[in-house]
Amino acid sequence: MRFMLVNQEHPSHNSACSACAQPLGSSYVRHVSKQERYCDYDCYRQQTAMDMLRPRSPFEAIAVLTAMAGWSWMIQMSALSRSLAEVYLREYVLLTTEGGDR
Ligand SMILES: [Zn+2]
Repeated sequence: MRFMLVNQEHPSHNSACSACAQPLGSSYVRHVSKQERYCDYDCYRQQTAMDMLRPRSPFEAIAVLTAMAGWSWMIQMSALSRSLAEVYLREYVLLTTEGGDR
């Protein structure tokens, strides 16, 4: 946790919540390193969760998109291989049951 709860002290400047843009009251949450202010812990948590999901640079955005594309390709390949295996097993069962009758 890198925030502090400020009580009974009005912010001097930039007196709006960094998450919901509502004006801050006499108590608010302040991010220690970024110096951003939030109206309460819920707004702080919401903003930090969004910061984790949002890429910080174009390179990171490309890396995230590449990872997502690779992941979806793997999902498609696993679905394809699963259906191929099912077809193969169905044919194998059909052949063995037909062969077993004779
Ligand atoms: Zn807020």
